[in-house]
Amino acid sequence: MGRYFQPEIESASRQEILDIQNQKIVKQVRHVYDNVPYYRNLMDEKGVKPEDIQSVDDIKKLPFLSKADLREAYPYGLLGTDLKNCVRIQSTSGTTGKRVVAFYTQNDVDLWEDCVARAIVAAGGDKGDVCQVCYGYGLFTGGAGLHGGSHKVGCLTLPMSSGNTDRQIQFMMDLNATILCCTPSYAAYIGETLAEKGYKPEDNKLKAGIFGAEPWTEEMRHNIEKSLGIKAFDIYGLTEISGPGVAFECEEQSGMHINEDHFYAEIIDPDTGEVLPDGSEGELVFTALDKEAFPLLRYRTRDICVLSREKCSCGRTLVKMCKPRGRSDDMMIIRGVNVFPSQIETVLLNEGYTPNYQIIVDRKNNSDTLDINVELTPDKFSDIISENVKKERKLESAMRTMLGIGPKVHLVPPKTIVRSEGKAVRVIDKRKLHD
Ligand code: ADP
Ligand code: ZN
Repeated sequence: MGRYFQPEIESASRQEILDIQNQKIVKQVRHVYDNVPYYRNLMDEKGVKPEDIQSVDDIKKLPFLSKADLREAYPYGLLGTDLKNCVRIQSTSGTTGKRVVAFYTQNDVDLWEDCVARAIVAAGGDKGDVCQVCYGYGLFTGGAGLHGGSHKVGCLTLPMSSGNTDRQIQFMMDLNATILCCTPSYAAYIGETLAEKGYKPEDNKLKAGIFGAEPWTEEMRHNIEKSLGIKAFDIYGLTEISGPGVAFECEEQSGMHINEDHFYAEIIDPDTGEVLPDGSEGELVFTALDKEAFPLLRYRTRDICVLSREKCSCGRTLVKMCKPRGRSDDMMIIRGVNVFPSQIETVLLNEGYTPNYQIIVDRKNNSDTLDINVELTPDKFSDIISENVKKERKLESAMRTMLGIGPKVHLVPPKTIVRSEGKAVRVIDKRKLHD
C-alpha cells in the first residue's frame, strides 16, 4: 500500500464518505439557491426547493447544468459569492468552442490543491521530489493546479509551463526532475526528443509522470513509460469543477479515484438524462459539494465513462472512473457509425506506429469520408512506394475490423505531423464547413 495525502478521507469507509456528502449537499444546495439566481430559476422551473434535498439520493431531483448554460451565464451569472471574496479566475482551454471562466475563493483554491496533492502522493511524490510542471501556466488550469499541488506536498517545484522542449530537457537533466507533469501528447513528444538527442530512458532521474487533460489510450501509456523509463499516472479534471485532480490514478493504474468528498459523481444516459447504475457507460455528471465561488450542481461534462466501486489494492475507498473514452462531442458519426479517435489510436499503436496521426472527416457526393494521416517512424520509412502501399492496406484492414467502417490511410514521412505542447488536435471535421 502506498502513502496518502489525506488518509482520513482517502481510506474512509463508504458510510463515512456518504455521511460527509449528505451533510455537504444540504448546505450546498441552500448556498446555491440563495446566491445564484440563474440556478434558482432552473430549480423553480423544475419545482424543486432546497428542502427537497436531504441527502445525495435526492440530487437526481435537481436540474442539470450544461456548457451552454455556462456560456449563457458568462461571465458572472453563476457566481456564488461576492466578487470581492474571489481570489482567482481560470478558464477552459476552449477545445470545443467559446471558453468559459471559473472563479475561486481562497478556500476553493485550497481544496483544489489538496486534490492535486492527493494525486501527486498517489504517484509516489513526496518532499524531496523535483516536480517539473510543463502544463501551460496562465488561464489554463493545468499549470496552476499541478503547481499548487506540488507545493502542498512539499516537492521542489519546477514551473516550466509548456513549450521550449530543448529547455524542458535541459532542466529535466540538470536539475534531476523526478516527476513530470504535462499532457500525454506532450510527454510522448518529450520522450521522442530525448531519444533523438541520444538519451536512453535510464539517463534521466524521472520516476513518475502525471498526465491528463486529454484522452489517451493504454497503448500510449506503455509507449510513454518505455520512452521515459517511468510509471505514468492519469489525472482528470475540468475547469468548471475546479481543474485537474477531480480524479487521479493510484499505483494500480486501473481507473482514477474521484475525490468524492468534494465532487459527487453520477453517470447518466446522455439522451434521456436518467441516472444509470454503477458499471454502466454514460455521461459523467458532477456536483461540487463545497465550492463557494463557482458552485456548479449537476454539471454535465459530456465525458463518456464508467464508474466502479470494486475494491482497489491501494486501499483507497474512493469510487473509480475509467479513462474517459472521449467526450460525447469528440465522437464522430461517420456513415452512421460511432467512431472515437481513441479507437484509431489503439490500432495504430498495436500495429507499431506512433501516436502521431490526424483524422480528416469530410463529405463527398453525400457520403462521409474518413482519411487518416499516419506518420512513419524513420525505421519504417521506405523509398519503395509499393512497400508503403502494402503498409497502408494492412492498417486500413485493421481499422476496418476495429471501427466497422473502412478509412483511407495515408502514410506520411517522419516529423510531418505537428507535435502538441498542450492538448493535441486529432480531428479535422470538414463536414461542418459545408453545413
Ligand atoms: P476544455 O473543455 O475547453 O478542454 P478544460 O481544459 O477544462 O477545458 O478540459 C477539461 C476536459 O478535458 C474534460 O472535460 C475532459 O474532456 C478532458 N480531460 C481532462 N482530463 C482528462 C483525462 N485524464 N482523460 C481524458 N480526458 C480528460
Ligand atoms: Zn487505488
